[in-house]
Amino acid sequence: MPADFNFKNYQESLAEGRLTAMICGKCGAYTTPPQGVCRLCGGTDTRLAEIDNKGTLRTFTIVRVGPEGTKPPYIVALVETKNGPWVMGNLLNIDPERTGPEIIGKSVDISSRVAQGDIYAIENIQSLTFTLA
Ligand SMILES: [Zn+2]
Repeated sequence: MPADFNFKNYQESLAEGRLTAMICGKCGAYTTPPQGVCRLCGGTDTRLAEIDNKGTLRTFTIVRVGPEGTKPPYIVALVETKNGPWVMGNLLNIDPERTGPEIIGKSVDISSRVAQGDIYAIENIQSLTFTLA
């Protein structure tokens, strides 16, 4: 992992509206959020890169019983970024009770918001959010 790509820097980038990743010098794949090695080949020759804030909704679930401090129902989605990595976050601005599989495959804009800390998190963090494009 590049020294300049860690969870703290990733969080700071999200707060500034940028989605950062690491690009692999061996295979060219992008990996985000930060982890120790390339998600595809396991390579460690990586450097910091910024990736596109657009993606495709691949799947989702509706949470009806959430952790303390949340207000279900809400949608947790998996999005394939334009650069390849899949990321998880909340799909906003859509009624969970009035949606279905028809939204799978739709284009989304990727952003983030502050998620309140709870009994499992020491502090507030930036959490990925998606909106249909
Ligand atoms: Zn690689």
